[in-house]
Amino acid sequence: MMGGGTRAQRPGRESSLISKHSGPHPADFADVRATNLAVVLRHLRMNAPCSRADIAATTGLNKATVSSLVTDLIERRLVREVGMTENRIGRPAMMLVLDGSPYAAIGLEVNADYLTAVALDLSGERLLSWRRSFAGASGSAGQAIASLAALAKRAVAKMAREERRVLGLTVAVPGLVDPDGVVELAANLGWHEVDLRKSLLSALNEPDYPLLVENDANLAVLAEQRFGGQAGTGNLVYLTSGAGIGAGIISDGRLLRGSRGFAGEFGHLPIDPAGPPCDCGRRGCLEALAGLGSLIRRALPEAAAETGIAPSEFGPHVDEIHRLAKSGDPQVLAALTATGGYLGQGIAVLANLINPEFVTLGGYFTVLAPWLIPAAERELRVRSVAAEGGGTRIIASALDASAAAAGGAARVLDGIDSGILPTP
Ligand SMILES: [Zn+2]
Repeated sequence: MMGGGTRAQRPGRESSLISKHSGPHPADFADVRATNLAVVLRHLRMNAPCSRADIAATTGLNKATVSSLVTDLIERRLVREVGMTENRIGRPAMMLVLDGSPYAAIGLEVNADYLTAVALDLSGERLLSWRRSFAGASGSAGQAIASLAALAKRAVAKMAREERRVLGLTVAVPGLVDPDGVVELAANLGWHEVDLRKSLLSALNEPDYPLLVENDANLAVLAEQRFGGQAGTGNLVYLTSGAGIGAGIISDGRLLRGSRGFAGEFGHLPIDPAGPPCDCGRRGCLEALAGLGSLIRRALPEAAAETGIAPSEFGPHVDEIHRLAKSGDPQVLAALTATGGYLGQGIAVLANLINPEFVTLGGYFTVLAPWLIPAAERELRVRSVAAEGGGTRIIASALDASAAAAGGAARVLDGIDSGILPTP
């Protein structure tokens, strides 16, 4: 894991943050230092530029401790001084900001029809954003791993040319990912039991930065919480929409993973036992009724019959649905209403179980959200026990199609923010 980490903490297992120690323990003192370093970093992320005295006053840490922590952060090139500023009151003070320049956090996403790469600096500024079409649904896992490794190498090489050190790399996958980075199932990619983390580590020659594999929706919701229109919201769901539908869930401020990391398989909520077959082998799952494939079949039946609905056709078909919806095409509007209704049935389950404040429609749904949301909200209100859907609002994501990759990079920054720092 990240150099300088002081806990037996695995970024993939949030539950390990809960201490099992009941009394003082030598490791606790190192933990306190890491926690305090993280407090200073987070304060600077939110409030920079600010002085050491500002940090002490706001965080409650004493001034000597803040000085020592800031020295440590400057040595690690995570923070830099930007010159003296006249304070409102008292002596001029040296102001501090996050120093993003020597570092980069990288996120990749693999999906049925595309690969994306995003790199962020420490302050969250985008350093690169690449997207390429990719036949993930028709190729083998080995081919996908080779393509992912090639993309990762290009991104890492670009960061190296900019003299940036890679803090970590996270890969987003549309499927069930266990805490060791094994993809147990990614139905839309045709993957079963693919040890993606191990394969990528090997393809990248055992890099010295941490490499994580995570469910795409889990990463997209982290991006939504950090960079989206509802940044900072503690009860938030992000719905992905590609070949399947997944949910990334932040509940009471924490990512909901479940006991083995498999929470959020929203697309496989059983809606209609007599419904159409799903890629997972069952019938009538939500994504068989409300997924992109079923929407295209309803909205563009002739085109679907003629060219099929291979994932490579998703983009052009969605563009056409968007164009026809804007022009008021009755068949397309009816298709969007039907799809929105099924989505609303699923969202009502979320509302009843976890009462989110916002459910954001991401992926290909984002551009179609104006036509999906009215029907989804009607179903939500009818089917949720709490009045008015418990206050849950359905909105379009403010993020683009690179949300999961951006979330992968944000996942790396979260590690830094929690005190797992690079060695000086
Ligand atoms: Zn299913």
